[in-house]
Amino acid sequence: MKIKVSDFCKIVSAKTLAGVAEIVFTHVSIDSRSLQNNEHSLFFALDGAHHDAHQFIGDLIQKGVRNFVVSKEPLVAPEGVHFFRVDNTLIAFQKFAAYYRAQFDFPVIGITGSRGKTVVKEWLNFLLNPDHNVIKSPKSYNSQVGVPLSVLGIDHKHNFGIFEAGISTVNEMETLQTIIQPTLGILTAIGSDHDEGFENLTEKITEKLRLFKGVSKLILEEDAAVLQHLKNRSLLYTWSFIQPTADVFFIHKQSGQLTVNYGDRAFEVDIPFEEPADLANIATCITTLLWLEYSEALIAQRLSKLYRVEMRLQVKNGIHQCTLIDDSYSSDFQSLKIALDFLEKHKTHTDKTVILSDVFQSGLPEVELYRQVGALLQSNKINRIIGIGPAISKQLQGLKNFYGYSSTDAFLQKFAADEFQQETILVKGARGFQFQKICSLLEEKTHETVLEINLNAVRHNLNFYRSKLRPSTKVMVMVKAFGYGNGSFEIAKLLAHDKIDYLGVAFADEGIALRKAGIQLPIIVMNPEISAFSAMIAYDLEPEIYSIRELKAFLQFAQEKNAYQYPIHIKLDTGMHRLGFEDHNLDELIAVLKPTNVLEVKTIFSHLSSSDMAEYRAFTLDQIALFVQQCSRLTEALEIDPIRHILNTSGIYHFPEHQLEMVRLGIGLYGVGNDVEETKQLAHVSTLRTVILQLRRVSDGESVGYARRFRSKGVTKIATIPIGYADGIPRAWGNEKGYVYIKECKATIVGSICMDMMMVDVSGIECEEGDSVIVFGPEIPVTEVARQLNTIPYEIMTSISQRVKRIFYEE
Ligand SMILES: *Cc1c(COP(=O)(O)O)cnc(C)c1O
Repeated sequence: MKIKVSDFCKIVSAKTLAGVAEIVFTHVSIDSRSLQNNEHSLFFALDGAHHDAHQFIGDLIQKGVRNFVVSKEPLVAPEGVHFFRVDNTLIAFQKFAAYYRAQFDFPVIGITGSRGKTVVKEWLNFLLNPDHNVIKSPKSYNSQVGVPLSVLGIDHKHNFGIFEAGISTVNEMETLQTIIQPTLGILTAIGSDHDEGFENLTEKITEKLRLFKGVSKLILEEDAAVLQHLKNRSLLYTWSFIQPTADVFFIHKQSGQLTVNYGDRAFEVDIPFEEPADLANIATCITTLLWLEYSEALIAQRLSKLYRVEMRLQVKNGIHQCTLIDDSYSSDFQSLKIALDFLEKHKTHTDKTVILSDVFQSGLPEVELYRQVGALLQSNKINRIIGIGPAISKQLQGLKNFYGYSSTDAFLQKFAADEFQQETILVKGARGFQFQKICSLLEEKTHETVLEINLNAVRHNLNFYRSKLRPSTKVMVMVKAFGYGNGSFEIAKLLAHDKIDYLGVAFADEGIALRKAGIQLPIIVMNPEISAFSAMIAYDLEPEIYSIRELKAFLQFAQEKNAYQYPIHIKLDTGMHRLGFEDHNLDELIAVLKPTNVLEVKTIFSHLSSSDMAEYRAFTLDQIALFVQQCSRLTEALEIDPIRHILNTSGIYHFPEHQLEMVRLGIGLYGVGNDVEETKQLAHVSTLRTVILQLRRVSDGESVGYARRFRSKGVTKIATIPIGYADGIPRAWGNEKGYVYIKECKATIVGSICMDMMMVDVSGIECEEGDSVIVFGPEIPVTEVARQLNTIPYEIMTSISQRVKRIFYEE
C-alpha cells in the first residue's frame, strides 16, 4: 500500500523527520528473523519486557528495510531510511491495524470465549470457505499482537472475515474490538482459564462481551450466568442442549447424530465427533450457519466432513539427520508465510527443502497466486522445492530447484529416502493431499514414546528469571546433557534469538554438535578434556580452566596454534570442592597468566553447593564473599576486568542481590524449580507420552509381569505400554509406587517395570488400545516423582533415553 507520511503519522500518532511525502510498502512486519523482510516492509519495532526489536534495526537495514516505527530513534538515519517515532510501538501497531481494517467493508465474525475459539474458527472457515473468500486468524493468533497481525492479512480479494480474540486481563478487549470490528459475534464456552487476570467471573464475562460492541447478532449458549449480563435479548441467537427455549435446540440421543430444532423445524445431522467439547463447538457452528441462512441439506453435508484441528507446527527428527517440520494439514497463502518463518527459526541445517501441495486461496487467479507463492519461496532462499498437485506442478515448473509431481501418490512412487540428507524439511499440504503419508516416510523411525517440548514455556521461564535480574546482567544458559534431556539445538536456537549471552555444556562433543547445527553464541565447555583441545579450538569453544595442570596444557596447545587472546574461564573452588582453584593456587595462576597474551580471562566463576537450601544460607553467603574476594585478587594482579558469575537457578531465585555481572541458568529454564513456590511460577516444558499397546483382563489371583510381583485382587484390567527402564523410567517407580495418566485418570503401575515396557491397572478407566498415556507431564511432574523416589528432578529428566523421540512445538 501507499500512504502519505502525514496521514500515517496521524494514524499512529508519530513524529518523523522523513524527508519524503509518502511511503510505499506491501507488508507489515514485527519479526526481525523473517526472511520476508525487505525494502517493501514496514517494520514495527516492538519492545516487550524481555525482547526489544530495536536491537535488530541495523540488521534489518542491511536486508533492505527502509521504514521503521520505533520508540527509540537511533541518532542518525542512514540515507533513504525513515523512522517514525512513537511513544509505544505496540499501540501504534494496533492503531495501524484498526485503521487498515476499517478500509474493508464485509461481514466479519469476532470469536471469543475461554475454550474452543480456535476450533470454531477453523471449522467455520472450512464450512464457509466454498462460498466466500475467507480471511481468518492464522493458528491461534488471538493476542494483543496476534490480532493486529491477522487483520493485516486482509486484502482486496477477501469478502468474509473470521477472527478470534483472547484476553488475559481487563481492558484488553476494547483494543481488540477496535481492530477486529466484528459485525457478527460468537461467544464460546466461558471457563475458569485465565482467572488470575480477573477479580471474579462477572468481571471476566463483562470484559469478554466488550468484543461485541457494534455486532448485529451475538451467537452463544443459552446460559443464565452469561445471559444476565446481556440486556438486549433481541441481539442474541442462542443454542442449547438443555433449554428447549433456546433459538436452536440440540438433542444428542444417538451416537454419531444430532437433531437440530429451530423455529418450528427440525433436521438431523451426522457428526464425526462427540466429546462434550466437540458438541459445544459443533452446536456453535451449526447455529452460525443457520443464522447465515444456510440450507439444512448443505449444513448436514458439510458438517459430516469436519476434521480434527491440528494447531501447532511440530518439529521432529527426520531420517538421515534431517529435521522435519510437520504442517501437513493446511495450505493457504497466509499460513505458508507463517510456516516459512517458522522454518527459518527452527532450521538446524543450512539446506532447506519445502514440500508443498497446491495452495488454496480463493479469489486470486491461479497464475497470480503462484507468482506470489514462487516469489515467497525464493525470498526465503529454499534450496529445493517439491511441489505436489496439478496446479503447483504446472505453475512453478519454471522455478529454479523445483521438482513437480501431479499427486501425492506420484511422489510416493518415486520416493527415495537417500535424497533427503542433513537438511531441514518443511512439509506443508492441504488436508486432501494426505501429506501425513509423506511425513511418516521422512520421520525417524523410533517407537511411539515421545517427549514433547513446549518452546513457549521455555521462553516464559527464561523471562521469569530475567525479571529477577538487572537488564545489564548477562545470562548463560546451561544446555549440558542434551539440555537437561530436553534437546539442546532447539533450545539453543530459541535462546540465541532471545539474546542470551553464553551457553554452557559439559563436554566438547556437545559444543561441537551445537556449532554444527549453526549455533554462534559463545559456548563454555565445563569439563574440557585434554584430548578434545584441538577440536575445541577448531570449533571456537571456550574452556573452563580449573587447575594449573589443565591451564598449562591448554596454554601450550593454544601457543602451538598461534592463538592470540583465546577466551578462557577461570573456575574457583569456594566450597563445592569439585573443580576449581583454591586460595593457595592463586599466586601460581597469576604467575602463569600474567606474562602471556595467548589467553584472555573472559570470565571468573564459582559454583554454589547449596543455593536451594535455607539451612545453608550462611554457607552460601560465605561462598559468595570468598568468591568476590578471590576475584578482586585476580583482577588486581592481572589488571583485567572480567565478567564474574556464581548464581545457578536457585541462586537467582534466592540471592538475586548477588547476581554480579552474569548468572548461569539451568533447571529453571526447563520448568523445574527447587522450591515449590518457584516452580508454581514456571511454565511446564516437557511431557513424556506413549500409547496403550494391548489391553487384557486378568482374573482374581493371577499375576502380572516378572517374578509374579503383582497379584490381582478380583478382575483387573491391565494395559501394557511401550516404555521401560531403558527409556529412563526408574525401576523403583514400579510395583504400585508410580502411576501414569490415561484419559485424565490415574493408572497405577503394576508389577516390575521391564526394560522396554510396563503394565498399568486401568480397571474403571474407559480406554482403548492406541489411546495416549502420559508418563510425566503437568499431571505427573518430575519433581513429584523425584520426591517419592528420594532423588532429584535433574536425575529423572536427564535419564530419559535418547531413543525417545523429541518433538518441539510452539503455540
Ligand atoms: C549445571 C550447572 C549450573 C546450572 O545449575 P542449575 O541448578 O540447573 O541451575 C550452573 N553452573 C554450573 C557450573 C553447572 O555445572
